Formats: sequence, structure tokens, C-alpha cells
Amino acid sequence: MLEKTLVILKPGTLQRGLVGEIVQRFERKGLRLAGMKMMQLTDELLNEHYAHLSGKPFFQQLKDAMRVAPVIVCCFEGVDAAHVAHAMAGATNGRQAAPGTIRGDYSMSHQKNIVHTSDSPETAAVELKRFFKPGEIFEYKQATFDYLYASDEY
Ligand code: ADP
Repeated sequence: MLEKTLVILKPGTLQRGLVGEIVQRFERKGLRLAGMKMMQLTDELLNEHYAHLSGKPFFQQLKDAMRVAPVIVCCFEGVDAAHVAHAMAGATNGRQAAPGTIRGDYSMSHQKNIVHTSDSPETAAVELKRFFKPGEIFEYKQATFDYLYASDEY
């Protein structure tokens, strides 16, 4: 099913000058960029976004690391986009992530792992609302659409 998902380029990705390279990987895969903005995350937003990790010893460190510089939030659309983008990110720990995945190719860290990607279409719907306002996600026909998918795939 054609769906949208959230990708966050974490502060280290900006600091290391990897924004273009990482966005390009999703573009090359065939995902349509439907929204993109730079933002400074707040403690409030991070408490919500990482609520499932609030009991972990690294929770504060993770939140601090997500606030040291701005992030770039992206909305990508495609068939099974959440699964596709999450698989492209790879395992959480960059040292264990398979080569060929984003974390496997660009990260040496369990925490400073380049990107956040929603882990399911349901999570993506909730997370996109968290980071994008109405009007910040754009609907337009992807010029390459008919060459990316067979007609029975969407
Ligand atoms: P993912 O981002 O792969 O979906 P989680 O939702 O479990 O993984 O964790 C969110 C983020 O918290 C990770 O991307 C990573 O930055 C950080 N994190 C998770 N587990 C650890 C850990 N054991 N040590 C340090 N940081 C962690």
C-alpha cells in the first residue's frame, strides 16, 4: 500500500555533513520526498517521541544528543514505505548494522546512529503528526512513479 513514513536525520548527520548523502539514498531507492524541514527538538517533544525508552539508563543522554544541533525531519512516501525505510536504516547499533544499510555504512555507535525511521505504518502515522503540521506534507505526482512500480503493486 502506498503510505508515508518519517525519517529524522539526527544532529550528528548534520554535523558530519552527511545530509545530502543520506537523503540521496532514500531518493535513489525510489521513495517520494513529501515533506522536509529543519527543526530544533525540545525536551517535551523528545519525551513524547522516546516515551518507550524513558526507563532506560541512556534516556537523558539520548535526549541531550538529539538537542545539541537541529535535526532534519523528512516525510517519504512509497509502497510499504515504513518497512522499506526502516530496513534501509539497519540495526540500531551501528557497529552491528549490516554493511549496505545506512547505519552499517555510516555509524560506529549504538546511540549516534544517523537516522530515526518509523518502525511500522501505524507508528509512522502517529510520528508524522508529531513532527509535521498540516500543510507541511505535499501531495504531487512523482514523475518516475510508473517506472518504479508495476500496476498491481500499489
Ligand atoms: P531504533 O531507532 O532502531 O528504532 P529504538 O526505538 O529502540 O531503536 O531506540 C531509539 C534510539 O535510542 C536509537 O536509535 C538510539 O539512538 C537510542 N538507543 C537505543 N538503544 C540504545 C542503547 N542500548 N544504548 C544507547 N542508545 C540507544
